Amino acid sequence: MDLEIAKLKLCDHCLGRIYGLRGHGLSNEERGRAIRILYAMENNVNIEELYPQKCDLCGGIFEKVEEYAQYAAEKVKEYEFSTFLIGSKFSDDILKREKELQEKYGGEGESIGREFNREVGKRFMKLTGKEADLKSPDIAIIIDTRYDSVELEIKPLLIYGRYRKLVRGIPQTKWPSGKYKESVEEIIAKPVMELSKGEEHLLHGMGREDIDARMLGNGRPFILEIRRPRKRNVELKEIQRRVNSSGKVEIFDLRFASRDEIAKIKNANVRKRYRVGIETNATEEEIKNALKEIIGKIKQRTPLRVKHRRADKIRIREIFEARLVEKRGEEYVIEILAESGAYIKELMHGDEGRTMPNLAEKLGKEVKVKWLDVIEILDSEINIQTDKNSSGDSM
Ligand SMILES: [Zn+2]
Repeated sequence: MDLEIAKLKLCDHCLGRIYGLRGHGLSNEERGRAIRILYAMENNVNIEELYPQKCDLCGGIFEKVEEYAQYAAEKVKEYEFSTFLIGSKFSDDILKREKELQEKYGGEGESIGREFNREVGKRFMKLTGKEADLKSPDIAIIIDTRYDSVELEIKPLLIYGRYRKLVRGIPQTKWPSGKYKESVEEIIAKPVMELSKGEEHLLHGMGREDIDARMLGNGRPFILEIRRPRKRNVELKEIQRRVNSSGKVEIFDLRFASRDEIAKIKNANVRKRYRVGIETNATEEEIKNALKEIIGKIKQRTPLRVKHRRADKIRIREIFEARLVEKRGEEYVIEILAESGAYIKELMHGDEGRTMPNLAEKLGKEVKVKWLDVIEILDSEINIQTDKNSSGDSM
């Protein structure tokens, strides 16, 4: 240790940080003071003469940590949270000078940011009674010491659930052009936005059904994301009650979710069971036989109806089951179990030969699709929930 550093024009914090990794159970301020005491004794000088007017490195920022903590505590008042993290930004000039100092005196130092964050954090904790969490805080408080500004990064509120769409004609997510006045997303998000006082919402679904298809049975898994929520402890039962009273969308199995579940939901390739109503002048027997012939791998070129917004290519998909379940007047009800991403309407009518094989081709007769419902999402084989700790972290 080079005691000559006591003569540098630094405050106790910045002086102590030069040897910040030496000696346990000490604050940098105590280290700095100790270095000066040693130097004063060794050289028989007055310790007060070793203090500069102003710290050359930080400019006296550590005298303001209480002020920063109070300002931050004031700013977070409108948000409900249990955990926080303090982050900070310093000018390039300060960082550069600190690096030079630390390199010169042996590289056992701690960075100014770490000490500053810790010191502000201790005071902030006292003021608010909240806990620090470095991994996944409800609020990250970023202090920019260059402009004396405080910015808040609020962890989004994430709610997992399953939805049933009971009516046709509404898209899953909000429609940019305004062609559809409502969506599954908006119906679910409305009460959550009211209760959480959030600023923005997004719905992440495990795939999506056609606008004119219903989503029935065990429902489709989703995660609703609310950005910048002011309240986090929202009553899930109350949200469910309000959504279900819409008569259009029903939700259930609600719980709080973690961020890494979103990708799992979006990337899940799960089999789906459909019911499709068709009209054709074939007999029941002919239909039953033709359905056997569409089981297995099928080739689907991007359907004409979505060609304008999706790349034109050929996809191979598997059909696991296809059977006739009912005849209702002129209408036949077919049940299909298919791999994720299969186009069921096209599997029925053939889409001018773009889906092969298809039911119409096997019958040698025209097939008209009257309606389509998703009746089951077979997601029980995959595990979406990461672990109990991360999933309930916003409760
Ligand atoms: Zn300083």
